[in-house]
Amino acid sequence: MKALCYQGPGDIRFESAPDPVLQDERDAIVRVRACSICGSDLHIFHGLGFSQDRGYCVGHEAVGEVVEVGRAVRRLRSGDQVMLSGAAGCGECAACVTGDVSRCRKQPLQVYGLSHALQGCQAEAVRVPVADFNAARIPDGVNLDQALMLTDALPTAWYGCVNADIGPGRQVAVVGLGPIGLAAVECAFVMGAARVFAIDPVSERRERAQALGAVPFVPGEARQAIRDATQGSMVECVAEAVGADASIAQALRLAANGGTVSVIGAPRSLKFEFPMGLAMERSLTFRIGICSPARWWPALVPLVQQGRLGVERNITHRLPLAEGAAAYRLFDQRSDGVLKTVLTP
Ligand SMILES: [Zn+2]
Ligand SMILES: [Zn+2]
Repeated sequence: MKALCYQGPGDIRFESAPDPVLQDERDAIVRVRACSICGSDLHIFHGLGFSQDRGYCVGHEAVGEVVEVGRAVRRLRSGDQVMLSGAAGCGECAACVTGDVSRCRKQPLQVYGLSHALQGCQAEAVRVPVADFNAARIPDGVNLDQALMLTDALPTAWYGCVNADIGPGRQVAVVGLGPIGLAAVECAFVMGAARVFAIDPVSERRERAQALGAVPFVPGEARQAIRDATQGSMVECVAEAVGADASIAQALRLAANGGTVSVIGAPRSLKFEFPMGLAMERSLTFRIGICSPARWWPALVPLVQQGRLGVERNITHRLPLAEGAAAYRLFDQRSDGVLKTVLTP
C-alpha cells in the first residue's frame, strides 16, 4: 500500500509501506477513507516524536471501512464504516473498561503513528488492535467529517475543558486557537461557560473564535485585557492548546485564585519551569494528560448529531494522501488560513 511515512526531521514521504495484516484474532484491517493531520503530528514532523524509529506510517486520526476481521472480533464485520479512537487500549484492564485507555495497565500508551509499534493511519489501510474496543461503527446522523473529528480533535478539546473544570457560569480562557483550541471554545460554551476569552497571534483564528461567541485577544495584550474585563479577578478556567513553554506560562498567569489550568497541547519542550510560587500563592490546580478519545464518544456523539458542536467547520483543506508532504508543510507554516487538513487515499 501507499502511506505517509516519517523518514527524519522535516521529511515525511508518501511511499510504499507493507500492507497491514492481522496480528491477533481480535484485530481488524480498515481501509482508510479519510484521515487528518493533528498538531501533535507536527512534533513528529519536526523530529520531536516519541521514538527514534524511522520509516513508520504516521497519523492517528482516521475513518474508514472494515475489510478484514480476526476470528475473535464480535461487533464489527467487513463493510462496516468505522471511526478509530486515536489512542488504543487492551480493552480488558481496569482502566480500559472505564474507557481510560491512556492509563491502560497492560501495555504502554498506544497511539497510532508514533513508532513501528502501532503503524499510523495516514495510509491506505491500517491495523486496528482489539477492534471491537478501539473502533466503533459511525453512528447514524454523523457524517464522515464529523466522525473524523471524533477520532481525536473533538474529544481532546472536550477532555481539556473537563480538566479545566469548565462548567455553568464559569469564566474561561483558551490559549491557542488551532483546531483543538477552537474546538475547546465550542466545548466551553456547550458546558455552560459564561464568557470565553480566546487568545492567538493569528487574526483569522481569532476571528473564528469571535464568530463562536468568544472575546478574542492577541497574546501580548491578553493578560491586561482579561484583568480589566474581570475587574482584576482573572479567570477560573484556562485551557492551553499549544504546548509551548510561553503559552503554558501565559495560561498560568491568567488563572484566578483557586483557578484551574489544563494543558491539552502536546508539550514541545520537556523541561518547562513551573512557577511554583505563583501556583502556591493562588492555590492553582494544574492538569495535563493524553485524551482517551472513545471515552468521550457517549457524551459527544449526541452533541454532534444535534448540531451543538460543529467542529468539522475547522476543516479548511482537502488534499489527496499523495500530497501529504505538502500538507504537512502548509500546516507547519500556518499559511493559507489552514486549520484542519483532511487527506483522502
Ligand atoms: Zn490528533
Ligand atoms: Zn488496558
